[in-house]
Amino acid sequence: MNTKLFLCLLAFLSIAEISTAQIQIDWLDITEDQSGEDIKLYASNRGHCPVTVSMGFKKLLNLKADAELPILKVIPNDGEEHLIVTLSVISSKRDSEYIFDFQYAIGNTINTVHDEDYAYTLPFQKGKESVIGQGYHGKFSHHNIYALDFDLIEGTEVLAARGGVVIATKEDSNSGCKNPKCKSLANYVLIYHDDGTFGSYVHLKENGAAVKAGDKVKAGQLIGYSGNTGWSSGPHLHFEVYIPEMNRRKSVKTKFRIGNDKVDYLEEKKTYTSK
Ligand SMILES: [Zn+2]
Repeated sequence: MNTKLFLCLLAFLSIAEISTAQIQIDWLDITEDQSGEDIKLYASNRGHCPVTVSMGFKKLLNLKADAELPILKVIPNDGEEHLIVTLSVISSKRDSEYIFDFQYAIGNTINTVHDEDYAYTLPFQKGKESVIGQGYHGKFSHHNIYALDFDLIEGTEVLAARGGVVIATKEDSNSGCKNPKCKSLANYVLIYHDDGTFGSYVHLKENGAAVKAGDKVKAGQLIGYSGNTGWSSGPHLHFEVYIPEMNRRKSVKTKFRIGNDKVDYLEEKKTYTSK
């Protein structure tokens, strides 16, 4: 018989400008099977994208793990139980005990590769234009990250730059400031792409998410309304694509379709019109 183990299911999603945001997911279960001579630990994921689990042990008494520790394993979101580790009893004459040490990240941290050739769609309506107020490695808040700030007046329709599945949204904040202490006040939509990367759309206005977790969206589809929440120096949309890593992320450059069959990276201070 399998026993469900208690877990503190808080994933620390580290997205630029919302790095203190915590997303509570109830997708992941760890179960223990002690029906045989060995102890088997399984993970199952009922969520909207894979989850990577890292498991080590704070205590392993009279037990031997069948893999090198910590074990890193991607759990697909199929709801099935996936074996993480088997602990075999060393001596049946002694007591056994274990305490595991567990972390996880939303996404596949082992082998996600960004499709560099994907041409992203400008995230606002056709006919509108926007200045890149801050570009890659910008001085205000993009130190060492590939993120783009599209200057947009509050309430502008934000469109998905690429299709995928909505993983999380936040829209309950109505405030922000120019100081990093306001990071956790940012509203956002987070989308999982088919190459395993994530697209984050940050600083949306209060009640400014037009989608919810689990929704499938296409490129160009309305996902929310821009705002000025969180750590922000003025109304804009922060857009960033990243490869998930355990406890952090790796942002990547993204090419955009900018009209007349032209596909290119966007540059700070330049104006782009959606065609
Ligand atoms: Zn930004």
